[in-house]
Amino acid sequence: MKKRKCQGCKELKDANLMHKITREFKSGKLYLNPGPKVLGRSAYVCKNKECIKEFLKRKTLKKVLKTNETSQIEQELLKIIIEG
Ligand SMILES: [Zn+2]
Repeated sequence: MKKRKCQGCKELKDANLMHKITREFKSGKLYLNPGPKVLGRSAYVCKNKECIKEFLKRKTLKKVLKTNETSQIEQELLKIIIEG
C-alpha cells in the first residue's frame, strides 16, 4: 500500500484514497488524478472538503509543484468541494 502525505492535514494516507495532482515533467502541465503515463512531480490531498480547502488556502500547487499555472486545477478542486 503506497502512502503519501496529504498537503491538507499533513498525515500519511493510502495514496488510493487521495487526489493526486501531477505536474508533468515534459510539458509542465498540471493534471488532476492522471493515469500512470503522466510522469512528473506530484502533490496529494485527501478526498475530503477540509483537506482540499486547506490545500487551496495554502497555495500548495504553487509551493509544492513550483508553477503559477494553477487556476484550472484549483477550479476543478473547488468544484469537487462544492459538488462532492
Ligand atoms: Zn488530509
